[in-house]
Amino acid sequence: MERLNIVTIDGPAGAGKSTVSRDLARRLGFTYLDTGAMYRAVAWAARRNGIDIEDKKALSELCNDLRLGFSGDRILVNGQDISSFIRTPEMDRLSSAVSKVDVVRKYLTEMQRDLGREGHLVAEGRDMGTVVFPQAAHKFFLTASAEERAKRRKMQIEYRGEEITYEEILTQIEARDLADSTRSIAPLQAAPDCTVINSSDLTVEDVIAKIVSEI
Ligand code: C5P
Repeated sequence: MERLNIVTIDGPAGAGKSTVSRDLARRLGFTYLDTGAMYRAVAWAARRNGIDIEDKKALSELCNDLRLGFSGDRILVNGQDISSFIRTPEMDRLSSAVSKVDVVRKYLTEMQRDLGREGHLVAEGRDMGTVVFPQAAHKFFLTASAEERAKRRKMQIEYRGEEITYEEILTQIEARDLADSTRSIAPLQAAPDCTVINSSDLTVEDVIAKIVSEI
């Protein structure tokens, strides 16, 4: 299989994937693809349309009608910029719930492969190296201890002016990791041919330096 000029960065919630992927894409002159935002956008649209996450038929129809797009770093649903609505604890939970549904995964996987056809992509998510781009040239799995990830997440949330306790965020992160890594389709796991980086004791700069040196 021909190798694609794509870098995949998978890993659990709060491991620092977004910061690292965005910065890496800028340095390489590649496009950054935030696939978590795509699952969040479907979750947002389902919620907006009052769709029950268990209702596969309604989710399938929703995906058929959905016009999902990017404008730079912003994500659009039917032309509306919804980026500022998709980073809430409710959307954390709902995006993880819709991501288990086969019709949703099929719809987004096809769209992601389409976006990656030309290569020159840093693709971030849970199944980039395992399912969506198994032929990617460079694969990474970024992780950190649950405690460290909860600490970082808490700082991000507080930075937005919201309040949450460390215990709440740790419980939410552990529940989402468990759901994401035990689902039957495309579970969160490291690809056999990826490089695993534990960022618990590393700065963003350290992680990027490691990735760049591997590439
Ligand atoms: O990365 P982010 O936290 O924005 O992802 C939100 C949710 O979307 C994840 O918890 C996961 O359930 C789902 N997701 C996925 N596959 C991807 C990206 C995200 O299942 N490639």
